[in-house]
Amino acid sequence: MTGITPEVRALMRPSAAALEPYDPAFSPVDVILSANENNYGIPPEVAPVLAKAVTEAAWNRYPVPLGGELRNQLAAWHGVAPEQVIVGNGGDELLFNLFLAFGGAGHALVSCPPTFSVYGLYASMVETPVVEVPREKDFAPNVDALVEAARTATLVVVTSPNNPTGDLFPREGVRRLCEACPGIVLVDEAYIEFADPGSTVEDLLDEYQNLAVLHTFSKAFALAGARVGYVLASPAVVAALAAVRQPYSVSVLDQAAALAAVTHRDAFQPAIQAIRQDRGRLSNMLGGLAPLDVRVWPRQANFLCVRVPHAHEVWCRLRDEHSILVRDFSSTPGLEDCLRITVGKPEENDLVVAALTSILKGE
Ligand code: PMP
Repeated sequence: MTGITPEVRALMRPSAAALEPYDPAFSPVDVILSANENNYGIPPEVAPVLAKAVTEAAWNRYPVPLGGELRNQLAAWHGVAPEQVIVGNGGDELLFNLFLAFGGAGHALVSCPPTFSVYGLYASMVETPVVEVPREKDFAPNVDALVEAARTATLVVVTSPNNPTGDLFPREGVRRLCEACPGIVLVDEAYIEFADPGSTVEDLLDEYQNLAVLHTFSKAFALAGARVGYVLASPAVVAALAAVRQPYSVSVLDQAAALAAVTHRDAFQPAIQAIRQDRGRLSNMLGGLAPLDVRVWPRQANFLCVRVPHAHEVWCRLRDEHSILVRDFSSTPGLEDCLRITVGKPEENDLVVAALTSILKGE
Protein backbone atom coordinates (compact mmCIF):
# COMPACT_ATOMS: atom_id res chain seq x y z
CA MET A 1 0.00 0.00 0.00
CA THR A 2 1.33 3.45 -0.87
CA GLY A 3 2.86 5.55 1.88
CA ILE A 4 3.24 2.93 4.60
CA THR A 5 6.88 2.34 5.47
CA PRO A 6 8.02 -1.21 6.34
CA GLU A 7 8.61 -0.04 9.94
CA VAL A 8 5.06 1.23 10.31
CA ARG A 9 3.63 -1.78 8.47
CA ALA A 10 5.36 -4.05 10.99
CA LEU A 11 3.35 -2.36 13.74
CA MET A 12 -0.01 -2.91 12.07
CA ARG A 13 -2.48 -5.74 12.63
CA PRO A 14 -1.85 -8.10 9.67
CA SER A 15 -5.46 -7.73 8.50
CA ALA A 16 -5.11 -3.92 8.53
CA ALA A 17 -1.73 -4.00 6.78
CA ALA A 18 -3.30 -5.99 3.94
CA LEU A 19 -5.95 -3.34 3.21
CA GLU A 20 -6.11 -0.93 0.31
CA PRO A 21 -7.85 2.37 1.08
CA TYR A 22 -11.25 2.88 -0.57
CA ASP A 23 -10.60 4.89 -3.71
CA PRO A 24 -13.50 6.32 -5.70
CA ALA A 25 -11.02 7.30 -8.48
CA PHE A 26 -12.30 10.88 -8.49
CA SER A 27 -10.82 13.55 -10.66
CA PRO A 28 -12.14 17.04 -11.33
CA VAL A 29 -14.13 17.08 -14.58
CA ASP A 30 -17.04 19.01 -16.09
CA VAL A 31 -19.57 16.17 -15.95
CA ILE A 32 -19.60 13.94 -12.86
CA LEU A 33 -21.49 10.70 -13.41
CA SER A 34 -19.31 8.48 -11.25
CA ALA A 35 -20.66 8.32 -7.69
CA ASN A 36 -24.43 7.97 -8.09
CA GLU A 37 -25.03 11.36 -6.56
CA ASN A 38 -28.11 13.43 -7.29
CA ASN A 39 -26.93 15.95 -9.87
CA TYR A 40 -30.06 18.10 -9.33
CA GLY A 41 -28.87 19.01 -5.83
CA ILE A 42 -31.11 20.36 -3.07
CA PRO A 43 -34.45 21.59 -4.47
CA PRO A 44 -34.55 25.42 -4.59
CA GLU A 45 -37.48 25.60 -2.14
CA VAL A 46 -35.63 23.43 0.40
CA ALA A 47 -32.21 25.12 0.15
CA PRO A 48 -33.15 28.18 2.29
CA VAL A 49 -34.89 25.99 4.89
CA LEU A 50 -31.80 23.82 5.11
CA ALA A 51 -29.47 26.81 5.31
CA LYS A 52 -31.57 28.32 8.13
CA ALA A 53 -31.67 25.03 10.02
CA VAL A 54 -27.90 24.65 9.77
CA THR A 55 -27.32 28.29 10.77
CA GLU A 56 -29.56 28.00 13.80
CA ALA A 57 -28.25 24.60 14.91
CA ALA A 58 -26.51 24.49 18.29
CA TRP A 59 -22.93 24.44 16.98
CA ASN A 60 -21.54 24.79 20.49
CA ARG A 61 -23.31 21.63 21.71
CA TYR A 62 -22.54 18.01 21.10
CA PRO A 63 -25.15 16.39 18.88
CA VAL A 64 -27.87 14.19 20.34
CA PRO A 65 -26.14 10.81 19.87
CA LEU A 66 -29.09 8.85 18.52
CA GLY A 67 -30.50 11.68 16.49
CA GLY A 68 -33.33 13.03 18.69
CA GLU A 69 -35.82 14.79 16.44
CA LEU A 70 -34.34 13.33 13.26
CA ARG A 71 -34.84 9.85 14.66
CA ASN A 72 -38.43 10.67 15.64
CA GLN A 73 -39.24 12.06 12.21
CA LEU A 74 -37.67 9.08 10.45
CA ALA A 75 -39.69 6.72 12.65
CA ALA A 76 -42.93 8.58 11.91
CA TRP A 77 -42.19 8.59 8.18
CA HIS A 78 -41.47 4.87 8.02
CA GLY A 79 -44.19 3.85 10.49
CA VAL A 80 -41.84 2.29 13.05
CA ALA A 81 -40.95 3.09 16.66
CA PRO A 82 -38.01 5.49 17.26
CA GLU A 83 -36.22 2.55 18.95
CA GLN A 84 -36.20 0.88 15.52
CA VAL A 85 -34.15 3.67 13.91
CA ILE A 86 -30.45 4.42 14.16
CA VAL A 87 -28.74 7.22 12.25
CA GLY A 88 -25.12 7.14 11.22
CA ASN A 89 -22.38 9.12 9.49
CA GLY A 90 -23.57 7.97 6.09
CA GLY A 91 -24.75 4.47 5.40
CA ASP A 92 -21.05 3.61 5.41
CA GLU A 93 -20.73 4.11 9.16
CA LEU A 94 -23.76 1.93 9.83
CA LEU A 95 -22.36 -0.80 7.61
CA PHE A 96 -19.13 -0.61 9.55
CA ASN A 97 -21.03 -0.77 12.82
CA LEU A 98 -22.88 -3.81 11.54
CA PHE A 99 -19.56 -5.58 11.06
CA LEU A 100 -18.23 -4.32 14.40
CA ALA A 101 -21.31 -5.61 16.20
CA PHE A 102 -21.96 -8.86 14.37
CA GLY A 103 -18.82 -9.68 12.35
CA GLY A 104 -15.37 -10.85 13.36
CA ALA A 105 -13.49 -14.15 13.35
CA GLY A 106 -15.94 -17.06 13.25
CA HIS A 107 -18.87 -14.79 12.26
CA ALA A 108 -19.36 -15.44 8.57
CA LEU A 109 -20.73 -12.87 6.14
CA VAL A 110 -22.66 -14.10 3.11
CA SER A 111 -22.56 -11.73 0.18
CA CYS A 112 -23.57 -11.72 -3.43
CA PRO A 113 -20.86 -10.26 -5.69
CA PRO A 114 -20.41 -8.29 -7.78
CA THR A 115 -21.75 -5.78 -5.30
CA PHE A 116 -20.79 -2.72 -3.21
CA SER A 117 -17.08 -3.19 -2.43
CA VAL A 118 -17.31 -1.61 1.03
CA TYR A 119 -18.88 -4.79 2.48
CA GLY A 120 -15.70 -6.72 1.68
CA LEU A 121 -13.51 -3.90 2.96
CA TYR A 122 -15.28 -3.78 6.32
CA ALA A 123 -15.34 -7.56 6.57
CA SER A 124 -11.54 -7.55 6.15
CA MET A 125 -11.11 -4.76 8.69
CA VAL A 126 -12.73 -6.82 11.42
CA GLU A 127 -11.48 -10.18 10.19
CA THR A 128 -14.86 -11.52 9.14
CA PRO A 129 -14.79 -14.59 6.88
CA VAL A 130 -16.75 -13.97 3.68
CA VAL A 131 -18.79 -16.59 1.84
CA GLU A 132 -19.39 -15.28 -1.66
CA VAL A 133 -22.33 -16.55 -3.70
CA PRO A 134 -21.63 -15.02 -7.11
CA ARG A 135 -24.36 -13.66 -9.30
CA GLU A 136 -25.27 -15.62 -12.41
CA LYS A 137 -26.29 -14.78 -15.96
CA ASP A 138 -27.28 -11.13 -16.33
CA PHE A 139 -26.21 -10.62 -12.70
CA ALA A 140 -29.22 -12.46 -11.27
CA PRO A 141 -28.58 -13.52 -7.66
CA ASN A 142 -28.57 -17.26 -6.98
CA VAL A 143 -31.19 -17.15 -4.24
CA ASP A 144 -31.20 -20.91 -3.56
CA ALA A 145 -27.43 -20.93 -2.99
CA LEU A 146 -27.64 -17.78 -0.86
CA VAL A 147 -30.31 -19.36 1.33
CA GLU A 148 -28.15 -22.48 1.80
CA ALA A 149 -25.11 -20.37 2.72
CA ALA A 150 -27.24 -18.20 5.05
CA ARG A 151 -28.02 -21.20 7.27
CA THR A 152 -24.61 -20.94 8.91
CA ALA A 153 -24.02 -17.19 8.58
CA THR A 154 -24.02 -14.47 11.23
CA LEU A 155 -24.59 -11.80 8.63
CA VAL A 156 -26.12 -11.71 5.15
CA VAL A 157 -25.93 -8.51 3.12
CA VAL A 158 -27.93 -8.10 -0.06
CA THR A 159 -28.31 -4.87 -1.98
CA SER A 160 -31.53 -3.74 -3.61
CA PRO A 161 -31.10 -2.17 -6.07
CA ASN A 162 -27.62 -3.62 -6.27
CA ASN A 163 -24.59 -1.43 -6.85
CA PRO A 164 -23.24 -1.58 -9.56
CA THR A 165 -25.60 -3.91 -11.43
CA GLY A 166 -28.77 -1.96 -10.58
CA ASP A 167 -31.21 -4.86 -10.14
CA LEU A 168 -33.66 -5.38 -7.27
CA PHE A 169 -33.19 -8.35 -4.97
CA PRO A 170 -36.36 -10.50 -5.06
CA ARG A 171 -38.68 -9.89 -2.12
CA GLU A 172 -39.40 -13.58 -1.70
CA GLY A 173 -35.65 -14.14 -1.52
CA VAL A 174 -35.40 -11.71 1.42
CA ARG A 175 -38.12 -13.66 3.24
CA ARG A 176 -36.32 -16.94 2.62
CA LEU A 177 -33.01 -15.47 3.84
CA CYS A 178 -34.61 -14.12 7.02
CA GLU A 179 -36.13 -17.52 7.70
CA ALA A 180 -32.94 -19.48 6.96
CA CYS A 181 -30.37 -17.23 8.61
CA PRO A 182 -29.77 -17.52 12.35
CA GLY A 183 -28.07 -14.10 12.18
CA ILE A 184 -28.85 -10.69 10.72
CA VAL A 185 -30.05 -10.08 7.16
CA LEU A 186 -29.25 -6.55 5.99
CA VAL A 187 -30.98 -5.28 2.87
CA ASP A 188 -29.07 -2.24 1.63
CA GLU A 189 -31.69 0.02 0.04
CA ALA A 190 -29.42 3.00 -0.61
CA TYR A 191 -31.06 3.48 -4.05
CA ILE A 192 -34.60 2.33 -3.30
CA GLU A 193 -36.22 5.72 -3.99
CA PHE A 194 -35.34 5.31 -7.68
CA ALA A 195 -36.97 1.89 -7.94
CA ASP A 196 -40.58 1.08 -8.79
CA PRO A 197 -42.98 1.98 -5.98
CA GLY A 198 -43.47 -0.86 -3.50
CA SER A 199 -39.94 -2.25 -3.97
CA THR A 200 -38.80 -1.71 -0.38
CA VAL A 201 -38.85 -4.66 2.01
CA GLU A 202 -39.13 -2.49 5.12
CA ASP A 203 -42.72 -3.65 5.63
CA LEU A 204 -41.23 -7.10 6.44
CA LEU A 205 -39.63 -5.64 9.59
CA ASP A 206 -42.81 -6.52 11.55
CA GLU A 207 -42.40 -10.14 10.55
CA TYR A 208 -38.65 -10.68 10.88
CA GLN A 209 -36.73 -9.59 13.95
CA ASN A 210 -33.44 -10.36 12.19
CA LEU A 211 -34.08 -8.05 9.21
CA ALA A 212 -32.33 -4.68 8.96
CA VAL A 213 -32.86 -2.16 6.15
CA LEU A 214 -30.29 0.51 5.27
CA HIS A 215 -31.22 3.90 3.81
CA THR A 216 -29.18 6.98 3.00
CA PHE A 217 -29.64 10.70 2.37
CA SER A 218 -26.75 10.62 -0.11
CA LYS A 219 -28.62 9.60 -3.23
CA ALA A 220 -32.28 10.59 -3.72
CA PHE A 221 -32.00 13.31 -1.05
CA ALA A 222 -28.90 14.93 -2.56
CA LEU A 223 -26.96 15.08 0.72
CA ALA A 224 -23.90 12.95 -0.07
CA GLY A 225 -21.73 15.73 1.32
CA ALA A 226 -23.58 15.82 4.62
CA ARG A 227 -23.01 12.10 5.43
CA VAL A 228 -26.23 10.80 6.96
CA GLY A 229 -27.75 7.34 6.67
CA TYR A 230 -30.04 5.24 8.82
CA VAL A 231 -30.95 1.68 9.55
CA LEU A 232 -34.43 0.41 10.37
CA ALA A 233 -34.46 -2.83 12.38
CA SER A 234 -35.84 -4.43 15.53
CA PRO A 235 -35.11 -2.51 18.75
CA ALA A 236 -32.64 -5.22 19.78
CA VAL A 237 -30.62 -4.97 16.54
CA VAL A 238 -30.67 -1.17 16.76
CA ALA A 239 -29.42 -1.42 20.35
CA ALA A 240 -26.57 -3.66 19.17
CA LEU A 241 -25.60 -1.11 16.51
CA ALA A 242 -25.83 1.68 19.09
CA ALA A 243 -23.48 -0.22 21.39
CA VAL A 244 -20.59 0.02 18.90
CA ARG A 245 -21.22 3.49 17.49
CA GLN A 246 -18.83 6.40 17.80
CA PRO A 247 -20.39 8.68 20.42
CA TYR A 248 -21.12 11.75 18.26
CA SER A 249 -20.67 10.62 14.69
CA VAL A 250 -23.54 12.59 13.10
CA SER A 251 -22.89 16.29 13.64
CA VAL A 252 -25.56 18.81 14.59
CA LEU A 253 -25.16 20.29 11.09
CA ASP A 254 -25.73 16.96 9.38
CA GLN A 255 -28.70 16.21 11.62
CA ALA A 256 -30.22 19.62 10.87
CA ALA A 257 -29.72 19.15 7.11
CA ALA A 258 -31.21 15.65 7.13
CA LEU A 259 -34.16 16.81 9.23
CA ALA A 260 -34.89 19.59 6.70
CA ALA A 261 -34.79 16.96 3.94
CA VAL A 262 -37.14 14.60 5.79
CA THR A 263 -39.68 17.28 6.60
CA HIS A 264 -39.61 18.49 2.96
CA ARG A 265 -39.22 15.08 1.36
CA ASP A 266 -41.97 15.62 -1.21
CA ALA A 267 -39.93 18.45 -2.73
CA PHE A 268 -37.32 15.87 -3.84
CA GLN A 269 -39.84 13.93 -5.90
CA PRO A 270 -39.63 15.97 -9.13
CA ALA A 271 -35.87 15.31 -9.41
CA ILE A 272 -36.32 11.64 -8.48
CA GLN A 273 -39.00 11.28 -11.16
CA ALA A 274 -36.85 13.14 -13.69
CA ILE A 275 -33.94 10.80 -12.99
CA ARG A 276 -36.20 7.75 -13.33
CA GLN A 277 -37.54 9.05 -16.61
CA ASP A 278 -34.16 9.95 -18.03
CA ARG A 279 -32.80 6.57 -16.94
CA GLY A 280 -35.18 5.07 -19.50
CA ARG A 281 -34.07 7.52 -22.17
CA LEU A 282 -30.37 6.98 -21.39
CA SER A 283 -30.90 3.23 -21.41
CA ASN A 284 -32.58 3.43 -24.84
CA MET A 285 -29.79 5.63 -26.21
CA LEU A 286 -27.15 3.20 -24.92
CA GLY A 287 -29.19 0.28 -26.21
CA GLY A 288 -29.03 1.98 -29.62
CA LEU A 289 -25.24 1.54 -29.50
CA ALA A 290 -25.61 -2.25 -29.68
CA PRO A 291 -24.05 -2.28 -33.18
CA LEU A 292 -20.92 -0.88 -31.47
CA ASP A 293 -21.02 -3.83 -29.02
CA VAL A 294 -22.52 -1.85 -26.15
CA ARG A 295 -24.77 -3.77 -23.75
CA VAL A 296 -27.01 -2.20 -21.13
CA TRP A 297 -29.36 -3.88 -18.66
CA PRO A 298 -32.83 -2.57 -17.71
CA ARG A 299 -32.38 -1.35 -14.13
CA GLN A 300 -33.92 0.28 -11.06
CA ALA A 301 -31.33 2.63 -9.52
CA ASN A 302 -29.99 6.06 -10.55
CA PHE A 303 -27.23 4.46 -12.60
CA LEU A 304 -26.77 1.98 -15.41
CA CYS A 305 -24.22 -0.78 -15.71
CA VAL A 306 -22.95 -0.84 -19.26
CA ARG A 307 -20.63 -3.26 -21.03
CA VAL A 308 -18.44 -1.66 -23.72
CA PRO A 309 -15.44 -2.96 -25.62
CA HIS A 310 -12.10 -1.92 -24.07
CA ALA A 311 -13.90 -0.35 -21.10
CA HIS A 312 -10.82 0.87 -19.26
CA GLU A 313 -9.50 2.71 -22.28
CA VAL A 314 -12.96 4.16 -22.94
CA TRP A 315 -13.16 5.30 -19.30
CA CYS A 316 -9.81 7.11 -19.62
CA ARG A 317 -10.81 8.79 -22.86
CA LEU A 318 -14.17 9.91 -21.45
CA ARG A 319 -12.29 11.57 -18.61
CA ASP A 320 -9.30 12.96 -20.49
CA GLU A 321 -10.81 13.95 -23.82
CA HIS A 322 -14.43 14.72 -22.86
CA SER A 323 -14.13 15.73 -19.18
CA ILE A 324 -16.78 13.16 -18.20
CA LEU A 325 -16.21 10.90 -15.21
CA VAL A 326 -18.03 7.56 -14.96
CA ARG A 327 -16.97 4.60 -12.82
CA ASP A 328 -14.69 1.92 -14.19
CA PHE A 329 -15.48 -1.60 -12.99
CA SER A 330 -13.52 -3.38 -15.67
CA SER A 331 -11.02 -4.88 -13.22
CA THR A 332 -13.74 -6.23 -10.89
CA PRO A 333 -14.31 -9.98 -11.29
CA GLY A 334 -17.61 -10.58 -13.04
CA LEU A 335 -17.73 -7.02 -14.39
CA GLU A 336 -15.06 -7.24 -17.05
CA ASP A 337 -15.54 -4.43 -19.57
CA CYS A 338 -18.24 -2.78 -17.44
CA LEU A 339 -18.68 0.89 -16.68
CA ARG A 340 -21.26 2.35 -14.32
CA ILE A 341 -22.89 5.55 -15.48
CA THR A 342 -24.88 7.67 -13.03
CA VAL A 343 -28.07 9.07 -14.53
CA GLY A 344 -27.49 12.82 -14.49
CA LYS A 345 -29.47 15.70 -15.94
CA PRO A 346 -30.70 15.19 -19.54
CA GLU A 347 -27.94 17.35 -21.02
CA GLU A 348 -25.28 15.37 -19.10
CA ASN A 349 -26.77 12.10 -20.28
CA ASP A 350 -26.73 13.35 -23.85
CA LEU A 351 -23.07 14.31 -23.49
CA VAL A 352 -21.98 10.91 -22.21
CA VAL A 353 -23.80 9.09 -25.02
CA ALA A 354 -22.32 11.41 -27.64
CA ALA A 355 -18.82 10.97 -26.20
CA LEU A 356 -19.16 7.18 -25.98
CA THR A 357 -20.42 7.03 -29.54
CA SER A 358 -17.54 9.09 -30.82
CA ILE A 359 -14.93 7.03 -28.91
CA LEU A 360 -16.39 3.70 -29.98
CA LYS A 361 -16.63 4.79 -33.61
CA GLY A 362 -12.94 5.66 -33.42
CA GLU A 363 -13.57 9.32 -34.16
N1 PMP B 1 -24.81 1.23 0.05
C1 PMP B 1 -24.58 1.28 -1.25
C2 PMP B 1 -25.05 0.16 -2.10
C3 PMP B 1 -23.91 2.36 -1.80
O1 PMP B 1 -23.66 2.40 -3.12
C4 PMP B 1 -23.48 3.41 -0.96
C5 PMP B 1 -22.73 4.61 -1.49
N2 PMP B 1 -21.91 4.44 -2.51
C6 PMP B 1 -23.74 3.30 0.41
C7 PMP B 1 -24.42 2.20 0.88
C8 PMP B 1 -23.28 4.29 1.41
O2 PMP B 1 -23.65 5.56 1.12
P1 PMP B 1 -23.43 6.74 2.18
O3 PMP B 1 -22.34 6.34 3.11
O4 PMP B 1 -23.12 7.92 1.35
O5 PMP B 1 -24.75 6.85 2.89
